[in-house]
Amino acid sequence: PLSKLSNVGTSIFSQMTQLANENEAINLSQGFPDFMPDPELLNYSDHFIKKGFNQYAPMGGMISLKEEIAKKIECAHQAVYHPDTEITVTAGGTQAIFTAIASFVKRDDEVIIFEPAYDCYEPTVELFGGIVKRFEMKAPDYEIDWNSVRNLVTDKTRMIIINNPNNPAGKILKENDFRELVSIVKDTSILILSDEVYENIVFDGRQHISICKYPELKERSLLVASFGKLFQVTGWKTGYCAAPENLTAEFRKVHQFNVFSVNTPIQLALAEYMKNPDHYNNLNAFFQEKRDFLRQGLSSTSFEMLDCEGTYFQALKYDKISDQSDIDFARELTITHKVASVPFSSFYKNKRNEHVIRLCFAKKQETLEKAIDNLCKI
Ligand code: GLN
Repeated sequence: PLSKLSNVGTSIFSQMTQLANENEAINLSQGFPDFMPDPELLNYSDHFIKKGFNQYAPMGGMISLKEEIAKKIECAHQAVYHPDTEITVTAGGTQAIFTAIASFVKRDDEVIIFEPAYDCYEPTVELFGGIVKRFEMKAPDYEIDWNSVRNLVTDKTRMIIINNPNNPAGKILKENDFRELVSIVKDTSILILSDEVYENIVFDGRQHISICKYPELKERSLLVASFGKLFQVTGWKTGYCAAPENLTAEFRKVHQFNVFSVNTPIQLALAEYMKNPDHYNNLNAFFQEKRDFLRQGLSSTSFEMLDCEGTYFQALKYDKISDQSDIDFARELTITHKVASVPFSSFYKNKRNEHVIRLCFAKKQETLEKAIDNLCKI
């Protein structure tokens, strides 16, 4: 057969954004901010382009940026990564995830994922001949039953992929989740891919716990993060992977033939901007205001708002409004009520339909107001 991914179509994010545009709907589907990033950051990128930093960066990334990344991680989680040998700057979180899977997953290796799962994990594993084993988290709590996860582990398990905070469910992992994970991987050679792109967006005074906080997990983990999410520049497509030297060495073997290196002036701008930690330490409050505004605005509707502990996504259960499938409901919401969302079933292999949709609240006040207005009329 011609296709290596015969079950895969266009990503739900592209589909819903296209539907939103065609119907002139307010786009709360794909996760990206509709407001300007900090002008200070934009000035730095201008500056470095005009100063002449327009040729290839070193393969692993600009050292100034890798040093700032190492400082940020150490300060937040007391974990040390060597900037030169343990941090690789990537073309966004997705490329880091792709490269991590490509570097380690071989034919017939098993990879455990947690659903609802961000859409790129499974196809990437399949592309390299791996087999996905899934644990389904369920509405409304999306809790992980670690005994069931333990039952998924076999001697073929190569990797466990966690996404913390979780997109789309907005859940964060707690100390006890990590204790379970530690005991599951103990005495195995299982690697962990930890997608933490929403690390700086957690609410109500909660703390994000990174995989690197636990030495016995850090030594086997690839930690992925994203500047698009951190600084509201998703179009800059810049992120990184932090991992112990032996894992980074393998990661870079693939990275060098995938993108080789990423945007030089943007890396320099990010490094300059990161020198002031206030630029990322205040994100929690910034996004909590938006989350609370959306939740408050929808509190009089028949939507049930599920917990949102982190990320910039709010999950809504609509079973009191309609018994349509979430795909049909999301379409109708876009076409008739002019608000685009993402149906949760697209994050499950078996298209599990629990009447839940996802709204992105990384939007201007005025956008959120219009969306609330429309949703209140349903
Ligand atoms: N991370 C974004 C989301 O979850 C989308 C990224 C993409 O479109 N690939 O909506």
